[in-house]
Amino acid sequence: MSDVRTIDVLVVGLGPAGASAAAAAASRGARVVGIDRKRIPGHPVQCAEFVPALIGQQVPAIDQHRQQRIRAMTTFVEDEPPHLREQFSGVMIERQAFDAALAARAEQAGAEIWFGLSLRGIDPDGTAQLSDGSRISATVIIGADGPRSAVGAAVGIENTVLAETRQMTVPLLMPFEETDIFLSHKLPGGYAWLFPKGDMANLGLGGDPRWRAHFKPLLDDLHAQLAAQGRVGRDILGHTGGAIPSGGMLEPVARMGAALVLLAGDAAGLTNPVTGAGIMSAVISGEMAGEAAAALIAGQTDAVAAYREDLVDMFATSLARAVARREALMRVHDDHRPAPADLRRAWIAFPEYWAA
Ligand SMILES: Cc1cc2nc3c(=O)[nH]c(=O)nc-3n(C[C@H](O)[C@H](O)[C@H](O)COP(=O)(O)OP(=O)(O)OC[C@H]3O[C@@H](n4cnc5c(N)ncnc54)[C@H](O)[C@@H]3O)c2cc1C
Repeated sequence: MSDVRTIDVLVVGLGPAGASAAAAAASRGARVVGIDRKRIPGHPVQCAEFVPALIGQQVPAIDQHRQQRIRAMTTFVEDEPPHLREQFSGVMIERQAFDAALAARAEQAGAEIWFGLSLRGIDPDGTAQLSDGSRISATVIIGADGPRSAVGAAVGIENTVLAETRQMTVPLLMPFEETDIFLSHKLPGGYAWLFPKGDMANLGLGGDPRWRAHFKPLLDDLHAQLAAQGRVGRDILGHTGGAIPSGGMLEPVARMGAALVLLAGDAAGLTNPVTGAGIMSAVISGEMAGEAAAALIAGQTDAVAAYREDLVDMFATSLARAVARREALMRVHDDHRPAPADLRRAWIAFPEYWAA
């Protein structure tokens, strides 16, 4: 059996949460190792690539990854006239380059970064087993390994409600600067989207996995409709998909033997269950987890409780609202076909969503 290497912080997963955590912990002097099972940073992309403009506060270099600006959101509820919400400011990013840049930032901050290396498991004493046979004993393990987190599973904290998605990239024939959202009774627990990125667009949908068999025909139908309107081309330039946590926030702190475990990003259930947006919360929570880990290493024992409290302050209210709206709409689906008013109440563009 190989020797056990001792470090301060092991970060599992180098997406937006893990790379931000590794950078934050390393820049505060902690000895950090970050691993990701992907061979190429950020590849393959499983994302519609929209982030709110506010992310510039966390990632000042966001403009380097910008594919185009977003100014508004248009929502199509069944066959009703489109609803335009202005002042919805965001950026379509090139997600692979974005993730790669965050990982490079972590390395520059002093973290040791490994791609093509997976977590295999965590022993009861807290020792991490890696796919190359090596073993690491870390004071803190940060689980930033996405919606089906192996770190979370090791400590019994898992996303149990997951939406599934299907997305194609298509040529965009009529450029625009809105995110188009399509709500329909045919897509329980989700929606379809057309997000523009210059001369291409991400066209996708997601929803409750019980309706998975309908996803392909629904997406093909929407593609055909938009192509017939002359908005997008008939070619399909790529496909992707993936799971989105939709059950709300999980307990972000646990212990495994000698190791303290902090969860961040999708692994902590911080993705919005209604919109599926999780990049910004991953970056913020990752940074907070990295800061808390470094503070703990430096002897601040209250840093861990502060991490949990800060996450609750920042995310719990909005996630709880989204969970409640999604669950209420799912109850309608179980009972009868939702009316447009039911769909509006479960979508962020409408005042009904924000009402008591
Ligand atoms: C189709 C789709 C579209 C989306 N569109 C948007 C959008 O437009 N805007 C938005 O804000 N959010 C979107 N999301 C959600 C967003 O992608 C996630 O919330 C975000 O990636 C979460 O970041 P993360 O760092 O927590 O997890 P991830 O980005 O999933 O990163 C986790 C990393 O952990 C690695 N990993 C997993 N297991 C192991 C292991 N055992 N060992 C080592 N490494 C491991 C993975 O390879 C991965 O790189 C979308 C999601 C999907 C599926």
